[in-house]
Amino acid sequence: MKKPKIVILGAGYGGLMTATKLQKALGVNEADIVLVNKNDYHYETTWLHEASAGTLHHDRVRYDIKNVLDRNKVEFVQDTVMEIKAEEKKVLLEKSELAYDYLVVALGGESETFGIKGLKEYAFSIVNVNAARRIREHIEYQFSTYHDEQDDNKLAIVVGGAGFTGIEFLGELVERIPKLCQEYDVEQSKVKIMCVEAAPTVLPGFDPELVKYAVSFLEGKGVEFKIGTAIKECAPDGIKVGKGEDEIEEIKAGTVVWAAGVRGNAVIETSGIESMRARVKVEPDLRAPGFNDIFIIGDCALVINEEINRPYPPTAQIAMQQGIAVAKNIAKLMRNQNDLEKFVPDIKGTVCSLGDHNAIGVVYGKKLVGTPASFMKKVIDNRALLMIGGISLMLKKGKFNFI
Ligand code: FAD
Ligand code: NAD
Repeated sequence: MKKPKIVILGAGYGGLMTATKLQKALGVNEADIVLVNKNDYHYETTWLHEASAGTLHHDRVRYDIKNVLDRNKVEFVQDTVMEIKAEEKKVLLEKSELAYDYLVVALGGESETFGIKGLKEYAFSIVNVNAARRIREHIEYQFSTYHDEQDDNKLAIVVGGAGFTGIEFLGELVERIPKLCQEYDVEQSKVKIMCVEAAPTVLPGFDPELVKYAVSFLEGKGVEFKIGTAIKECAPDGIKVGKGEDEIEEIKAGTVVWAAGVRGNAVIETSGIESMRARVKVEPDLRAPGFNDIFIIGDCALVINEEINRPYPPTAQIAMQQGIAVAKNIAKLMRNQNDLEKFVPDIKGTVCSLGDHNAIGVVYGKKLVGTPASFMKKVIDNRALLMIGGISLMLKKGKFNFI
C-alpha cells in the first residue's frame, strides 16, 4: 500500500518541531515525510536582534537542519515555496513541485509596513539571517565612513516600534555602540539612538512596572523615546513622524530599523487561502477552515484567546507548542483516530532581553528584572534548542554565559 506523504513547509520553530516529533512518532514504513525550507539552515528568529546589532555572530544563531533530522524518516528539500495548490493537493516550489496527503504550513512571518511610504525601500527589518547581517553591516559602514563625510546623521539610528522586537534590539544596540565608537574612533556623544512608538506607551499591554524599568534602563544608556508618535514616511536620509495628521516632523537618520509590525507569509495570500494579513484563523485542531488535510501553524496561524477575544501574539513559544500538537494530530489521522487534539496555548510567560545581562519578564506569573530575568531568558533560549535538537544541539549552540 502507498505510504501517505506528509509535507512540512518551513523549518522554523513550528516546522522543525513538527518534523522532529513526527520522526519519533511514526515508523519508517508508516509515512513519507518531506521538510521544505529556503535555506539548508534553521535560524533562531528569537535571536535575530542580536545578530542585527552585531552582539552575536550570525553563525551562532543558525544550525544545519539535517543535524536534527532522522534521515531515514525525513527527506529534506532545500527550495522556496511559491504556491500551495490546495485543490490539486500539491505545492509549487521554485525548482520543482510536491504532492501531499497532509500538509503543514509553517512558513513564519514577514514584516508588515502597513503601506507606509518608503519603508520597504529604505528601512531595514529584523526578519531573517540575511536581513540581520545587512543591518549589522550597514551600521558598521555608517561608522566606518563617518570621518570621510563628518555627517552626524550617519550616526543616528531610528528604531520604529517599541514592541518586544524594538526593545530587544535597542538593548543590544546600547551594548554594541560603545564598542563601535572605540573601533572607529567616534565620540559616543555623536551617536543618537531614537525609538518612535505610535502607542501611548512602550511595550503596549505589558506590565507597567517592568516597562518603566526597561525605559529607564535604555534612557540611561542614551536612547531617546518618542512615544505616541507614528512613523508616517521613510526616505533614504531619515523618517517623517507625526502625532496627528498635521504635525509632521522630519528626523534625519542614517539607519532606520522598522520593528513595528508582523504578518504571515505572502505564500498564504498567493495561494488564495482566506486570511487576515496572511494569518489564517485556524480551526481548534489547527487545520485551515475548509481543508481536512492542511494544518497551519506559527506566525501564519491566528488563534483567538477566548478570554479576551483577541488573537494570541505570534510567538516561538506558541509555534513550538503547535508543532507538537500537529504532529500528534497527523499521527492520529493516519491511524484513523478522529478525536483530534484541540490546541490551547500554554503561555508560561514572556521575557524581554535588554542586552546580554539585563532583562524584564513575567514567568509563571512572577515578575523578574535584571540578572534573574536575563538568566531566565537564556534558559528559554536553550530550552528551544533542547526541545528540537536534544542535549547535543543545546551544548553546541546554547547560551551558557548566565551572569
Ligand atoms: P519561523 O521560525 O520564522 O520559521 C519560518 C521558516 O520558514 C524559516 O526557516 C524560513 O526560512 C522559512 N521560509 C519562509 N518562507 C519560505 C518559503 N517561501 N519557502 C521556503 N521556506 C520559507 N517569540 C517568543 O516566543 N519569544 C521570544 O523571545 C521572541 N523573540 C523574538 C525576537 C525577534 C527579533 C523576532 C523577530 C521575533 C521574536 N519572537 C519571539 C517571535 C518568534 O520568533 C516567531 O513567532 C517565531 O519564529 C514563529 O515561528 P514559525 O515557525 O512560524 O516561523
Ligand atoms: P508588535 O506588533 O508586537 O509591536 C509593534 C509596535 O510598533 C507596537 O507597539 C505598535 O504600536 C508600534 N507601531 C505600529 N505602527 C507604528 C508606526 N507607524 N510608528 C511607530 N510605531 C508603530 O511587533 P514585534 O515587536 O515585532 O513583535 C512581533 C511578535 O513577536 C509579537 O507577537 C511579540 O510578542 C513577539 N516577540 C516576542 C519577544 C519576546 O518574547 N521576548 C521578542 C520579540 C518579538
